Amino acid sequence: MLLNLTLADIASACNGQLVGTDKPVSSVVTDTRKIVEDCLFVALKGERFDGHDYVLQAVEEGAASVVSEKGLALSSYIKVEDTKVAYGCIARLIRDAFQYPVICITGSNGKTTVKDWLSQSFTDKNVLKTQANLNNQIGVPQTLLGLEKYHELAVVETGTSVPGEIARLASIAHPDVVVLTNASGSHFEGFGDLAGIAQEKGNLISGAATTATVILNADDGFYSYWCELAGDRKVVSFGFNDNADLYAYDLQLGANESQATFRYQDEIIPVTVAGAGKHMIANGMSVALAMMAVGVSFTDAVAQLAIPVLVSGRLERLESKNGALLINDCYNASPKSVEAAIDVLAMQDVEETWLILGALGELGALQDEVHRGLGIYAKSKDISHLICVGPVASIAGAAYDNEGGKALLCNTHEEAAELVASLGKEHAILVKGSRSAKMENVISALK
Ligand code: ATP
Ligand code: MG
Repeated sequence: MLLNLTLADIASACNGQLVGTDKPVSSVVTDTRKIVEDCLFVALKGERFDGHDYVLQAVEEGAASVVSEKGLALSSYIKVEDTKVAYGCIARLIRDAFQYPVICITGSNGKTTVKDWLSQSFTDKNVLKTQANLNNQIGVPQTLLGLEKYHELAVVETGTSVPGEIARLASIAHPDVVVLTNASGSHFEGFGDLAGIAQEKGNLISGAATTATVILNADDGFYSYWCELAGDRKVVSFGFNDNADLYAYDLQLGANESQATFRYQDEIIPVTVAGAGKHMIANGMSVALAMMAVGVSFTDAVAQLAIPVLVSGRLERLESKNGALLINDCYNASPKSVEAAIDVLAMQDVEETWLILGALGELGALQDEVHRGLGIYAKSKDISHLICVGPVASIAGAAYDNEGGKALLCNTHEEAAELVASLGKEHAILVKGSRSAKMENVISALK
């Protein structure tokens, strides 16, 4: 941990009451499996577990003390109203002790991609980054509490599933650089509409340091709105229109990587961008601008974009048992990301293309419309075969059929895998669906 903290420091940071004697703590943990000697155990309440049930176990295993919402029979502990809020406050204490830039990334799509790409691009720095997709009110504090004296940069993914969450994360991470990739209909539930989503993401801008640099997508419909939110903060934009500060043009999209020309101020550079699809060029531009915001030159920043970002389950190219190209994009799905993945599938140099689609979740009343749209989109891109897993995905199948296709409907992952198991190298198979659709089971059956 970056700071030597005592219970009194922590109680004061999280508006809690120190009951009993003050003592130092070595680290802050929320999981009894991660208890180390003299740590502070924060009793969080989750959907399935309540940390308060594990307090005694934590102390027996070596925790120095506990942050709790309940009164405890311990010689010293910190009592707070809400342990989740307190956890964020402790993280903010650590964050404030960090002298180097904190870069936060939000948006509907591409957060993890940009986070991982950006982190790996600082080849000469010790970077702390969000592990996997730990981007919520637990994950963001957990990430920041991982700061150590040797870190020189933090790259933090911030996500949201309920209105107000990004504002809380901004108050914890207090970014020096904000990257907002886009606003699209990934989680309408709770947000009402796209404007609600744009507002929620925009809270990362309003909550950033007043000296922060804000990196925005100039092609997004909410660009001007976010510029207003930025106020006096420095805004740098990227996009495929020549009003953007970083402008990409002359695109040549390839199956594995793309070529483009990037213009920033009066410098023009031909760039290779690893990964397939126009969206990766957009992500690449935001990675470059974030690097430049912390002092990397334009030339050095764009040079990193030729190196593929390693994220499993995102347009990951595998080979099926019988030699077909298997594109694993099962990690998650939003309408925009399904379209982006379909574009990549359509680009493959094979005889036939197969899309195995699982349901997209969290769409609320838009569920049917979105799935119909995806069926139509797949046909418009000449995807040769659509296999739908489950009744919700099958709505896309019906729309695909209406456009002249012949979708195949399955009830299980195994059935879907069976349908393509014998395909050889003249075929490309894209597997995609929301996290809840667990489409990785199809991949496992085919590998
Ligand atoms: P989550 O909300 O699940 O954390 P995320 O914002 O972190 O998602 P990624 O995990 O990077 O996003 O990518 C998710 C999906 O979106 C992938 O399938 C990827 O192909 C696609 N994608 C990535 N970047 C973009 C983009 N800029 N526009 C549209 N789709 C994108
Ligand atoms: Mg993510």
